[in-house]
Amino acid sequence: MRYSRQGELIYRTVKKSKMHPDANLVYEQVKKIVPKISLGTVYRNLNYFTKNGLIRSIVDGSKTRYDGNLDPHYHLQCDICGVIKDIKAKDINLRFQLNDKYDFKASNIEFTIKGKCNKHK
Ligand SMILES: [Zn+2]
Repeated sequence: MRYSRQGELIYRTVKKSKMHPDANLVYEQVKKIVPKISLGTVYRNLNYFTKNGLIRSIVDGSKTRYDGNLDPHYHLQCDICGVIKDIKAKDINLRFQLNDKYDFKASNIEFTIKGKCNKHK
């Protein structure tokens, strides 16, 4: 895919967002600057940036959300409003401190660590 101004704008929108936006939210924000942009263009660019490791994707139920923070971190997601907040990887041992430090009451902590097993060297 060639460099495009729209692509640049989509990338920067995800990078500066703290909200872990889905494609629709990125689309809404980018549309304010480039009214003619299509949702398809937004999807194509988000896929491209994710594949190339410039942003990360997060599966949230049936939708995909995007994260511009590439530092090692995990997510806290509220069961009720769905907001996703970042938590530093080293803080994850501090479950008992979650309440004080992040003002978040943990109901369940689960991680999926993805990678390759030794069958695929
Ligand atoms: Zn994040």
